[in-house]
Amino acid sequence: MTSSAGHNSPEGNLEIRLDSLMEAAGDAVFHLNDKGDILRASKRATEILRPNGTLCGTPLSGLVRSKDRLAVAMAVMKAIETGRQVRVQVRIDTDRAAAASFEFQIIAHATVEGSSELLAVGRNISEQQETESRLRHLATHDALTGLPNRALLSDRLGMAIAQARRTSKRFSVLALDFDGFKKVNDTLGHPVGDMLLRVAAERLRETLRDVDTLARVGGDEFIAVLPSALTETEIQTVAHRMISAMQSPFEIQGHTLYVSTSIGAATYPDHGDNEVNLLAHADSAMYRAKETGKARCVIFDHAHFTPPEHDVSMEAAMFEAVRNGEFLLHYQPIVDAGTRTIIGFEALMRWTHPDLGLVPPMQFIPMAENNGLINLLGAWALKAACAQIRHFEEAAGRPLYVAVNVSPRQFRNDSFLAIMDDAIELSGLDGSRLLLEITEGILMSDPEHAEVLLTAIAARNVRIAIDDFGTGYSSLAYLKRFPIHMLKIDRAFVKELPESVKDAAICNVVLSLANHLNLSTVAEGVESEQQLLYLAAQGCTSIQGFHTGRPLLPETVIEMLKSRVLLQFPSALAC
Ligand code: C2E
Ligand code: MG
Ligand code: MG
Repeated sequence: MTSSAGHNSPEGNLEIRLDSLMEAAGDAVFHLNDKGDILRASKRATEILRPNGTLCGTPLSGLVRSKDRLAVAMAVMKAIETGRQVRVQVRIDTDRAAAASFEFQIIAHATVEGSSELLAVGRNISEQQETESRLRHLATHDALTGLPNRALLSDRLGMAIAQARRTSKRFSVLALDFDGFKKVNDTLGHPVGDMLLRVAAERLRETLRDVDTLARVGGDEFIAVLPSALTETEIQTVAHRMISAMQSPFEIQGHTLYVSTSIGAATYPDHGDNEVNLLAHADSAMYRAKETGKARCVIFDHAHFTPPEHDVSMEAAMFEAVRNGEFLLHYQPIVDAGTRTIIGFEALMRWTHPDLGLVPPMQFIPMAENNGLINLLGAWALKAACAQIRHFEEAAGRPLYVAVNVSPRQFRNDSFLAIMDDAIELSGLDGSRLLLEITEGILMSDPEHAEVLLTAIAARNVRIAIDDFGTGYSSLAYLKRFPIHMLKIDRAFVKELPESVKDAAICNVVLSLANHLNLSTVAEGVESEQQLLYLAAQGCTSIQGFHTGRPLLPETVIEMLKSRVLLQFPSALAC
């Protein structure tokens, strides 16, 4: 450490303490004057950034790439002005590795002479960023074709809708489904089918512009989002290019194959002003294209398509069902991966329809989200689950937590906090026993609102889990920004464990990341002992799935907890 200050005065002692602190830190630490010039740098800083020279006298901004210099100078000014800690991310060319990413945390303090000095702590975050982008790529792209998958499509479509809404513009969505693909798969096998899909996807991609999105959403199903195909003629032109691209035969492993594509199109906002409607309408138009000759494009038209009847009657039945109290909650155990004891339950909604029987949530939650009934249902679920967990605790004779799913519309609702407070107060439950499950989309769509609400929720000791982690944006930035306690790894990544190398890679990355950030983890959809053992060995903290218990009626849970007898689980699990 290089320093110009004397060490005999009280300030000198402080200097010595500061010196040892700076040396103890694993990060690069800098002591700066109020102009941002380096007065002292820790040994680690010199080692990383200038092993053969000195950093003293250089402005901090002089260490970073030229395009980031202004940001550093501004951060120094802001730290002095506000007295608060300021963070800035920059790129630095170090002697060892070209272009590392660093994050500086800068904090100012007043000197005895009344001016300001600053401390800056720089941390190399390149590895973290690499992990982030790897994870994001794995979670957002189709492994076979490299095209965006459904999660990324949903993201892009959401952005296209938001932009079109802001600028009062239109855009189109095309749904593609190959004609004759199944026959290839059935007669020549999956490897040939896979190769055909890869080549076909390349040909289709080449017909589009860079601003267009082409996603693979199923076996031979693709969706294209076209921001600039607006009129019927423009849509037909693009569709024709795609159909023509498929016309020449595919030469795959010595086979000459002929496959065409049928296309359906829908335009925002004429044929739908949200993702679900646009995709559903493009899909119905695609089926019409298949029915009327294949290898052609049909554009959706309200006059020719009536909505499926059961949806309308289902919606009416739902309003009736709320009045009749036909909704109920099942509870699925969440088990500690190490001790195998039950630590909590997830409340999962069901609808006992008078004719259809038990209707699963995926059939009515999206509808309730659309028509607004989710606010009513969600408030009821929160209240019922908080009250129920107290009975479970009583039966078990120890604390347990309850996880309740919160949908985006509920989260946006201004009264959400009041509803949650009510549920906690009425049940007399301690806030720390409640865990809210939200999805990544909720955080990304309106981060400012999310930050305010999550901070208020955390102030009540209520915890937050990210549900279905890995299927959405997987941006690590929000894990740091928001008070989040738990990641629930989506069933999709657990299903083929431990055989699937790709799923294992995703689970391991998520688990090590969670471990790093001190978050607990729940693996969803665990159906075998082998999966449980694998996940536990990788550091997963808890388990939820049919292997440790299906969603159960509350009466059954109470019986099970009281008798300490477990249903459907190997003897090792204790209640
Ligand atoms: P989720 O929150 O991810 O819930 C987990 C789903 O996985 C549940 O489906 C559960 O029954 C199922 N599951 C659990 N273990 C296994 C397993 O080992 N194998 C398989 N194949 N499945 C397993 P369910 O009950 O059909 O719920 C589906 C989704 O509906 C939930 O996904 C959640 O997003 C939503 N949902 C359920 N209840 C509510 C609610 O009260 N409010 C809101 N907004 N959404 C809810
Ligand atoms: Mg959930
Ligand atoms: Mg889930």
